Amino acid sequence: MKFADLHLHTKYSDGTFSPEELVLQAQKAGLACIALTDHDTVEGCAEAARAAAAVQMEFIPGTELTAEHDDTELHVLGYFLDTENKKLLTEIAKFQAVRQNRIHEMVQRINDLGVPLKVESVFALANCKSPGRPHVARAMVKAGLVGSLDEAFERFLKKGRPAWVPKQKISALEAVDLIHQAGGLAIMAHPGLNRSDDMIPALVEAGLDGIECFHTKHSTTMSERYLEIADQHRLLISGGSDCHGFSKGKPLIGTVRVPYSHVERLKAKVAAKRSASARG
Ligand code: AMP
Ligand code: FE
Ligand code: FE
Ligand code: ZN
Repeated sequence: MKFADLHLHTKYSDGTFSPEELVLQAQKAGLACIALTDHDTVEGCAEAARAAAAVQMEFIPGTELTAEHDDTELHVLGYFLDTENKKLLTEIAKFQAVRQNRIHEMVQRINDLGVPLKVESVFALANCKSPGRPHVARAMVKAGLVGSLDEAFERFLKKGRPAWVPKQKISALEAVDLIHQAGGLAIMAHPGLNRSDDMIPALVEAGLDGIECFHTKHSTTMSERYLEIADQHRLLISGGSDCHGFSKGKPLIGTVRVPYSHVERLKAKVAAKRSASARG
């Protein structure tokens, strides 16, 4: 039987693998298909597509948009995106600019506390368009300013700590539209993590295509609940490990995976949408 892991990160956001390393790890995990879903970016997709093609692995270009609805944060996955789509690139560039400004602001706050972190060291380490708190934490560890990533988050970066700066979020309904106009499918990510069930009907109304039922942080009960919700609203089913690289020795990639039949259903929907829009 073939399996897919449809939620993965690389160094183009807050993961540590290069796209090539991600594909190598996917091969080791025996996956037939992967989706790259870096936060607020599609920067790694072309490289990952080439690496996957070289080993005959199926690749889905995607992203994970940071969104909100009724003041609740949620993440919206986009699959099968046209990564050259002008509107998509323009919109995510705005979010990336805010993320970059946010790095300056977080470092300024850290400096104000008497901790001499250099902003250049964070950007040098991040080296991507969509930097975030993990890059600040890693730069602090590298400079010997904290002993661990956890310490950086606990003392400075987590919500409510002095260097925490909120991120800009796209409205969830706009996120669904943006993904659609870039030719993709919009999937609600890890609903079990966001206390976001109440918003599902509004998202469905806006054209949400699917929901991530299987995720590293979903319990069996949660997965069953979202499978039921998917059935009720006729949503497609997705799942993935949300691997960010090596965590405690072994990467998560492939530890949560979906049977390939779900990929076939996702592909059928995207093909149907494209032929409908080609007919006008
Ligand atoms: P950002 O998008 O910049 O707000 O960063 C969010 C990312 O930081 C998450 O995707 C996690 O990878 C990471 N993160 C959040 N909280 C912690 C924590 N307490 N310790 C380590 N990493 C964390
Ligand atoms: Fe992340
Ligand atoms: Fe997420
Ligand atoms: Zn993720």
